[in-house]
Amino acid sequence: MNVSRSKKAFTQARRVLPGGVDSPVRSFKDVGGTPRFIARGKGAYIYDVDGNRYLDFCQSWGALILGHAAPGVIRAAAAAMNAGTSFGAPTESETALAELISEAMPSIQQLRFVNSGTEAVMSAIRLARAYTRRNKIIKFDGGYHGHADHLLVAAGSGLANWATPSSAGVPESFAQETISVPYNDIAAVEKAFAKYPQEIAAIIVEPIAANMGVVLPQPGFLLALRALTLCHQSLLIFDEVITGFRLGYGGAQNYFKIRPDLTCLGKIIGGGFPAGAYGGSKKIMSLLAPLGPVYQAGTLSGNPVAMAAGAATLRALKMAGVYKKLNAKSDWFVAALQDKLTPLGIQVNAIGSMFTLFFSPSPVENYAQAKRCPARKFAQFYHKALEQGVYLSPSPFEANFASLEHSEKELAKAVSILESAAAEAGSAGLIS
Ligand SMILES: *Cc1c(COP(=O)(O)O)cnc(C)c1O
Repeated sequence: MNVSRSKKAFTQARRVLPGGVDSPVRSFKDVGGTPRFIARGKGAYIYDVDGNRYLDFCQSWGALILGHAAPGVIRAAAAAMNAGTSFGAPTESETALAELISEAMPSIQQLRFVNSGTEAVMSAIRLARAYTRRNKIIKFDGGYHGHADHLLVAAGSGLANWATPSSAGVPESFAQETISVPYNDIAAVEKAFAKYPQEIAAIIVEPIAANMGVVLPQPGFLLALRALTLCHQSLLIFDEVITGFRLGYGGAQNYFKIRPDLTCLGKIIGGGFPAGAYGGSKKIMSLLAPLGPVYQAGTLSGNPVAMAAGAATLRALKMAGVYKKLNAKSDWFVAALQDKLTPLGIQVNAIGSMFTLFFSPSPVENYAQAKRCPARKFAQFYHKALEQGVYLSPSPFEANFASLEHSEKELAKAVSILESAAAEAGSAGLIS
């Protein structure tokens, strides 16, 4: 595979961008080799600057559930763009998208738009602290909630391979307000509440963990979090930046029938443009300025182009049968992967259209288990798949996503490519 132009682009980028990228995982640090510089995308495919085509399972980290350059989204964004790209004054497009989201997620009576998932989480936590008048936050090991200071504690995703559990430049005093416990471990959460009674403002959780790779909540886990937070007058924050509008119209909270106090959104709701949001009951949200004492603002927040793209995406997803179709073909795909890859010592963790392949002979239910998988093996496998035209998220700790544009035929082809890549990379059980 000729990647000479990507190679050159990477060299050039590294002169002016640290590591050649604007977000660490894009650099292929976890898998080595040359990150592909992308020229364009259409439907299920992306094309790099050398003209190579890849069946894309990253889909902008799950933001593009309708696939690349979805015509309806492009039309809506173009129309908005032609009317002016930003005003710093209210537009009707914000209300339109807010109504769609609020209808889809009954726990959200009101919401505020921001520009990224990071901003959404950061602001939701500020709000939770103000509402409860407490400081401490419980998160889960390997849970990634954006790069805000106090959340870079045992964070997964791009940080999962860093030597230190968090980041340089984060004051210890900030990190001390964050308690990180293993995912799926209710006893550890109970212990934290016992140790810090009346001090915990909120639990923040990915209702389906996706930044240590996809790890499902065990039955009863989320419900126990709901019960514990109610009992201790803490708030339950669902970080649905990935899961919102991924599994169904209404996210993981509708899927699992649990009502969080606050919800953070991003990725899909921007339709491929920068947008995030956080929302909850009117009572909590009315603490926000201009109504209340919690300050949070943004020059480009609720940007009309992003709002139009987001609303076009949600309207497409709201049509009858869309999720049924996406989840049915994803279920078939995952079952086929499990059939072929489990005998090779690979766990296929998946739900709906999100999945991660773990090189582990035994089930992966938390971050510690995810980290035990051999990284070298994954890197070998990754490049074998890439060479054959399948683009997975370039890290063993990330989720992959099927879009509505991935046809049964393409998914079947991906199964055979991933099987041969896994066979060539050898089974995990054999090397350790
Ligand atoms: C991607 C992600 C974020 C951060 O969103 P950005 O838009 O990258 O800032 C937060 N939480 C979760 C669960 C995510 O997957």
